[in-house]
Amino acid sequence: MKKAAVIGAGITGLAAARHLTQSGYHTLLFEASDCCGGVVRSRRADGYLVEHGPNSFQEQPEIMELIQSLGLMDQLVETDAGASKRFIVRNGAVVALPASPPALLRSPALTTRGKLRLLAEPFIRPGDPDSTESLASFAKRRLGAEALHYLLDPLVSGIYAGDPAKLSARHAFPKIHEWEQTHGSLFKGMIRSLRQRKAEGRPKPRLLSFRDGLQTLTDALAKSLEKQTYLETKVKAITGVNGKWQVLAERYGHELRDRYDAVILALPAPALASLAVQTGADDALNALTAVDHPPLRITHLGYARNALRHPLDGFGVLIPSLEERSILGALFSSSLFPGRAPADHALLTVFTGGVRHRDVADREEAEVITQAARELEALGLVAGEPVFRQSVFWPKAIPQYGTKHGEFLELFGIFEKKHPGIFIASQCRDGVSLPNCAAAGQTHAERAARHLADLPD
Ligand SMILES: Cc1cc2nc3c(=O)[nH]c(=O)nc-3n(C[C@H](O)[C@H](O)[C@H](O)COP(=O)(O)OP(=O)(O)OC[C@H]3O[C@@H](n4cnc5c(N)ncnc54)[C@H](O)[C@@H]3O)c2cc1C
Repeated sequence: MKKAAVIGAGITGLAAARHLTQSGYHTLLFEASDCCGGVVRSRRADGYLVEHGPNSFQEQPEIMELIQSLGLMDQLVETDAGASKRFIVRNGAVVALPASPPALLRSPALTTRGKLRLLAEPFIRPGDPDSTESLASFAKRRLGAEALHYLLDPLVSGIYAGDPAKLSARHAFPKIHEWEQTHGSLFKGMIRSLRQRKAEGRPKPRLLSFRDGLQTLTDALAKSLEKQTYLETKVKAITGVNGKWQVLAERYGHELRDRYDAVILALPAPALASLAVQTGADDALNALTAVDHPPLRITHLGYARNALRHPLDGFGVLIPSLEERSILGALFSSSLFPGRAPADHALLTVFTGGVRHRDVADREEAEVITQAARELEALGLVAGEPVFRQSVFWPKAIPQYGTKHGEFLELFGIFEKKHPGIFIASQCRDGVSLPNCAAAGQTHAERAARHLADLPD
């Protein structure tokens, strides 16, 4: 029987292994740690439900199919309409971001000059489609410096904990690049895509989680694959032997060796880079050490309702670099989903670090937590001390799709050509979000299934 191996049991590997199994192939899943799910971790403590990793995801077809097939639809929770409201900080004050173009004209988020510059966007000629232009240059060229600093820069912090000057417009935000190239303007692209969605009767994608947190999804996937999963098994090397791929793994100090007809590498860039994959002497994936993954500390702070100084009526607040604060932003977690904080309490999730503050890696946990609480106070969101504190540190959090990202994408293509039967499904290839990762797991599993089907029995 043809056999496949999936390396890495985060959402990407879990989705890939499930798809390959459902396609009828004997599939084994290798996971270095003692549990599946990767960075998806939901924890309960003192009546709070906190997410150590991702906190929500946007509704997309592939992840919804997965959820449906696992029978989890009734456990989904969605943010209410008010949660689409986002805040930024301008001149030290928390201000609501405009949700629509007319609201923009009334918003204090941009000056009159900044608003007028935005209105010129449809008249700006598209840039070179193949360019390695940074997001900062792209945004400044199309929307003006103020929109870059007060709209794009905080958004980039929220998604990548990154710096727009270092990210690639084309790879980090493919949609806006496509709008420029196809419609000649971001505004026109946005309007056309809204119209198309309406014409097709598709509702606005919802922002979702599960009643018991996002781990509900990875736990259910892990359970469905339980009998074919090797936990605490770190794959060290993959070697070509007689037309098959020999996977060498270490488990409790012992070596495991077996041969597979197809292998899916569902790993982040640092893990890919440290894997020895050889047909002869070939270490092509080592180049991925150059993919930047800045550190991030996530701090959960709980407050009694009477300590709140803001209605927390939205998704959260993001902080532009120009405001020079020591945090990147905060999610209003208990406003997003029900059951995240005990009655009469609120939960805020503060992000510190990223490209802006890499020194978070060298700072004491207690100091970062205290500073996070001080910042919430300074921004006028709360007054007084939190009654709940918990934090988690990610030394290499989110891959930065930098201006050289195209070279890494090329590398994946070249690598797969040289190693037929090995497929790379990585969050540094097809997008960092949970829905992107779930979709990538499925897409590369489909490629692997086609490869297996073409092999002689
Ligand atoms: C702090 C944080 C917040 C985020 N917030 C959001 C959010 O709100 N919404 C959203 O959509 N996305 C968010 N993301 C992004 C998203 O969560 C991740 O991109 C996605 O979960 C990555 O999944 P993965 O399976 O590709 O990788 P991982 O989850 O990293 O899983 C990889 C797995 O491979 C295992 N592994 C590594 N090396 C080996 C080896 N040699 N052998 C065997 N196993 C190995 C690891 O132990 C791990 O379990 C966030 C990410 C982080 C870090």
